[in-house]
This record gives sequence, structure tokens and C-alpha cells, in this order.
Amino acid sequence: MCGIIGCVGRGERTLDTLVDGLERLEYRGYDSAGITLLGDDLGVRKTAGKIADLETLLDERPVDGHIGIGHTRWSTHGPPTDANAHPHQDCTGDVAVVHNGIIENYQSLRDDLSAEGHTFTSDTDTEVVPHLIERGLEMGDSPEAAFRNAIAQLDGSYAIAAIVGNEEAVFAARNDSPLVIGIGDGTASSDREYFLASDVPAFREYTDKVIYVEDGEFARLDSELAVTDSDDQPVDKEVHSIEWDAEETGKSGYDHYMLKEIHEQPRALRQCLSGRVDELAGTVNLDGLSDRSPSSVQFVAMGTSYHAALYGTHLFQQAGIPAQAFHASEYATATPPTGDALVIGITQSGETADTLSALREARSRGAETIAVTNTVGSTADRECDETLLIRSGPEIGVAASKTFTGQLAALNLLALATVESARTRRGVVPELRELPGRVQSILDDSNAAEIAEEYHDSESFFFIGRRYQYPVALEGALKLKEISYEHAEGFSAGDLKHGPLALVDEDTPVFAMVTGDDEVARKTVGNIKEVEARDAPVVAVTDGRSDAALYADHVLEVPETIPRAAAVLTNVQLQLVAYHVANLLGRPIDKPRNLAKSVTVE
Ligand code: GLU
Repeated sequence: MCGIIGCVGRGERTLDTLVDGLERLEYRGYDSAGITLLGDDLGVRKTAGKIADLETLLDERPVDGHIGIGHTRWSTHGPPTDANAHPHQDCTGDVAVVHNGIIENYQSLRDDLSAEGHTFTSDTDTEVVPHLIERGLEMGDSPEAAFRNAIAQLDGSYAIAAIVGNEEAVFAARNDSPLVIGIGDGTASSDREYFLASDVPAFREYTDKVIYVEDGEFARLDSELAVTDSDDQPVDKEVHSIEWDAEETGKSGYDHYMLKEIHEQPRALRQCLSGRVDELAGTVNLDGLSDRSPSSVQFVAMGTSYHAALYGTHLFQQAGIPAQAFHASEYATATPPTGDALVIGITQSGETADTLSALREARSRGAETIAVTNTVGSTADRECDETLLIRSGPEIGVAASKTFTGQLAALNLLALATVESARTRRGVVPELRELPGRVQSILDDSNAAEIAEEYHDSESFFFIGRRYQYPVALEGALKLKEISYEHAEGFSAGDLKHGPLALVDEDTPVFAMVTGDDEVARKTVGNIKEVEARDAPVVAVTDGRSDAALYADHVLEVPETIPRAAAVLTNVQLQLVAYHVANLLGRPIDKPRNLAKSVTVE
């Protein structure tokens, strides 16, 4: 859940590279941070708190070296304290280890090591690793062999990087946690520079050439890079090129990454559609994916991605294909019969532990699996039979914005390419093509900031919608609670009077998404009247084709389109409301408390 960074060959810039990398990874986990540099000896600096706290510590107690590893922590074992921050060391202080994930058998390893006389100074599962390495060194292993033998004793999920003894190298291994190596061009002081990280943005400004480390592989970074398998045989790794600009991972003048990412949605939508839809021919081409014609579909996902999954069920059901959405965490523990179902896992990071488990469960039952993800080379991408990339570009804000929009667009492409009729395609494709421009018009003209000004002090916020707008209601509420810390709930509009209406009073703003003028819209307008009769302020998010505005106190307008595309538009208005409410309340929008971007524990 944390971020790992490492580098060799950067000479005097080693420390700055590590600290910059940690700043770029801070979105992944951020309760403590630390670094180790190998110079004349092994210097470790670590602290609870943010990277800024680490920088203060480094100012007070400088450290020097030309090989290093660093870490931002999202605690799983032991509270965020200085002692629990990574890197962790052995008894001699010659070994330093950073770790992302959970070591499941740490307690028995720790008991054994303690019985042998090793002294532990933290509560973490991680700390067994440097002591295991120390034990190997004592038994005469080389640094590399000691590292490999330590890793072989671990159960669980991990990406681990270590510096061992005075060996001028960074060692790394992974199981079930992301780890990527960057290959730089070298500096005046070295022929080659290598980077190691849990995610590309950590070193993207220095190189676009990367190698993905796979489960069971070992990497050794020194003046050369060697990747070997568990039998110590060299692995021939493919070098990938990353297309993102370094600039794309900065804030580009916006106050927050989230606001920047909300404004990137027109581009993200264009990227998602690019080369995949042919408006004239009315066709959608997703390469290998287009051949599928599933008889039923099961979606597995968590959080925002689960809302996209619910939306996806409507698309497939409309085409006559039975479709269900499951919280991946429930699916993994009580898997329903898969039959011939195509199982689609939706995960922004491609590393969501619950979703990976559900997909593995589905695969073990013989189901075909598709990953819908933003992350090339992620575990979901590699493990599923096929991947549909949403192509939203890097998303740094912890609360998903453009990636949800990308998921909705990608699911439209998937349904159109696999199960929907040529007639439907001809109707939908032009509306998808128009979406980026329509999202832009909302971004240009939205009055969401005024609505936020009016209601940001409310105790509770409700969101209601039907059909395609029901997942939007859920997502609107989730976004608001994630970043504003205010209570918010989303309901299917029809369900409101079956209980939640008891909570509605004149201090409970209700956001109602109503587009078009069909039966769905008319029924939602009926639900607005029920709310209005209880004196609740109503904000209608509408294209103006129904009577919704008549009963609403405020209107957030969206352009007219077909119902499925309207969900993308109404959601953009709700993103802006959530953002402005959180901003008025002074919340740390990009890094909400208790949350992490990539949820790699179940
Ligand atoms: N399990 C380790 C700890 O609690 C690593 C957590 C992380 O991934 O940051 O320190």
C-alpha cells in the first residue's frame, strides 16, 4: 500500500532523487517515510509523518551516499511511529529493507529469530526481513544469496528492496505487489542509472524506459541490471516505453491534483475512444476483445469501480445479457456459480487486492476474465485473459475522478463491441464522440461552486437517481464523503421513501439526477416532490427536459444526450460539488485521511 523508491548510478543526486520520488509516491501511502543511503556506511533517516517531516529531519541530520532506497508507509502492522517507519534494519545495522505489503508468516519467523537472539525494535511484519538476511550472512551467504534466501522464507504479498552489507547494489523482489524498474541514460559519474519503484511517476522525469518485475523474480541493480528467476537463472525482460510526460504528473497550475484531473476528463475521454470507434461505419474495435459474445457477465470491483460496475450491468442488461455486479471482497469469499459468465474486474490501479482475489477465484473456476484498468503492466492486466485499458493517464488524487469517467466510457465500448446491436452502435457512438466536448462545457460553465457555498455547512447530503443515474448517486455521495469528511448517502430514488426519507429535513440537501423526459425521469421527478414536501432543499442535476427544475431550489445543468452518456455528465457536476465543498471546509483533498490510492490489502 506504500511507495518504494530506489536508485543507483545517480551520484550526488541520489538523495534528491529519492526524496523527489517519495513526494511523487506520497499519494500511495503517507503516514511515515524514510530513506537509506549507502556511502561510507549505511545511513538511515526515518520518521512518522509526511515527506516534509522527513526533509526536516534530513536538514537536521544530513546523510550522504550514492546508492539508496526510500519508502512512504501506509501502516498495516503497528501504528505510524518513527520506529515503525521503514527502512528496517538488522541487529548489526548493515542491512536496510523497505517493504510494501503484508508478510503473513511474520509472527512465527519473528518468534524463531527472537529465540535465536535477534532484537526487534518495531511492531512491523517487515522487520523480520533484515534479520533473516542477517542470519544468512552469519551463515556465510553472499549478500545476494542472503537476500534470496530471506525472500524464499516469506509468505504473503510484498515488494521488497534492500541494501545488504557494503555491497554496492540494491536488491529487490516481489510477490503480489507492484514493482517497476526504470532504465536511465547515466550521468557523468556512471554509465547507467537505474531506478526502482512501486509506480512509474516516482522516476518518470528521468526516464521513460521501464521493466516490470514479476512475481518470483529477483532484481539486482548496480552498475548493471540483472533480473533472475527463483532458480537464479537470468530472465530476458522486455523494455517498455511509457508515454506519459513528466509534466503530466505535476499539478499544472491547479490547486489540487483532483481539480486538475477533473479538468483532464475531456482529454481522458478522447484518449479512451481514440482509434476504437468509427463513427461513419458505426463500429467499435477493441482488438481481441471484440470477438467475445458472452452469454452472461459478472462484474467484480470495489469502491468507485464498483459504481462503474453497477453502471456496466445496465449496459449489458439492456442488450439482453444477464449481468450482475459484486463487491469483489464478497465475491472472493462466497463466489456465485460462474457458469459461462465472463468475469470483468474493474480496478483503477490494477492492484486492488480484493478485486485480484475475486478474479483469481473466477479463473480457478474456469471463467474467462477481463481487467478494466488504467494501469498497463499492473497485476490485473497481466493476470486476466484480456485487458481493456481506460487510458485516463496517471491519477494522483486519491479520490478517483477521471478514472471513473474513463471506466464508464470503456464499459460502453466493451458492451458496444461485444453484445450490442449495430443499430445501438450507430445511435451511441456519435453520442460518445460528443462526450468530451459536453464535459468541457460543464467544466466551463458549472455553478457547482455556488451550490457548494450554499450548502457546505450541512450535516448530511443525499443523492438520488434511477437506472444509469443510480450508480452516479452512489458515486456522488462517496466522492463527497471521501474528500469532505461530511456524511453523504446515495440511494436509488425509489428506495428513499422506504426508510431514508425519515432522515430528510430542511437541512438535508438532496441532489437528484434527472435527464431526459422518459418514464425514468418522470418517476424521479415524483421522488423529488416527496423530498420537497419535507422542506428539503433540492438540487436538480438535469438537462431541463423534465419538470425537475420546477420543484428544485437549484439546478446544475448538463447538456442533452442519451441516458447512458448523461451519467458521465451528471457525475462531473457532482465531482465539482464534492471538490468545492471539501475546499471550503479546508480538507486535504488529494490525500484524504485514512485512504490510499492503491488498496493492495484485502
Ligand atoms: N506491512 C508493512 C508495515 O506495516 C508495510 C506496509 C506498507 O505497505 O506500507 O509497515
